[in-house]
Amino acid sequence: DFFEDSENVGFKELSEKLTQNVSEIDMIKEMEAYRKEYIGNVSHELKTPLFSIQGYIETLRDGGVENLNIRDKYLERIGISVERLINIVNDLDMINRFESGEIKLNISKFDINLLVKETFDMLDLEAQSRNAILSLNTSAPQVFVNADKQKISQVLINLISNAIHYANRQQAQIIVKTTVLKNKVLIEVSDNGMGIKPEALPRIFERFFRVESSRSRREGGSGLGLAIVKHILEAHNENISVESVYLEGTNFSFMLEKG
Ligand code: ADP
Repeated sequence: DFFEDSENVGFKELSEKLTQNVSEIDMIKEMEAYRKEYIGNVSHELKTPLFSIQGYIETLRDGGVENLNIRDKYLERIGISVERLINIVNDLDMINRFESGEIKLNISKFDINLLVKETFDMLDLEAQSRNAILSLNTSAPQVFVNADKQKISQVLINLISNAIHYANRQQAQIIVKTTVLKNKVLIEVSDNGMGIKPEALPRIFERFFRVESSRSRREGGSGLGLAIVKHILEAHNENISVESVYLEGTNFSFMLEKG
């Protein structure tokens, strides 16, 4: 009996250990695959603007560009690529700090309607150049929330500029709606743009995921905007929801604590 028991215990422990090790190995393998994919994505993102800068610099250095207008145009394009690189690096930095729990919220009470209007002003030129109409639909002149103002401003910028970029019609309509509920405020950003196919919808909050990568890049997108939005809302213990009808439009919504 003793022998049998001890053997059984031994076997049980051993198999438990083995299972544990196998799952640890699986986990390490998974992390390794994730790391590889991540680095692959990052270098891919950095390559496009870097190669473009390299190309323009070489052309300018070869002295083939005598026309000052063309030279200025090339310098401007170099500037755009540099700006793009800075955006990507800043976005990555922000995601990193969220994932390592370094980001602390700075909560205060503020009027979300005012923040929406300030965001509209900030994006006004972009909206005008695309013939997009931005409007606020609200039940009260002022709607107070308790949240990190700077980070919620980032959420609004990302959602509204996406709505501008992924418009699909002559007349893009983008509506931000704020609704006061019992303890919370509901904020919705909706557009009548190109919409998102159901199969892509669950993936749009992933880092670097884009439905159409060429269009996103043309718009200067890093594929990180919605991942950042999700992180910011999670830090507030809130979720972001999305509903979309392909070729009809998209609605993003989230809640904040009432102020
Ligand atoms: P990007 O920098 O590519 O815009 P995001 O993380 O902000 O990255 O968005 C991920 C993808 O989700 C976009 O590439 C686009 O395909 C899709 N998307 C985001 N917002 C909208 C929207 N309002 N309408 C249609 N598609 C959208």
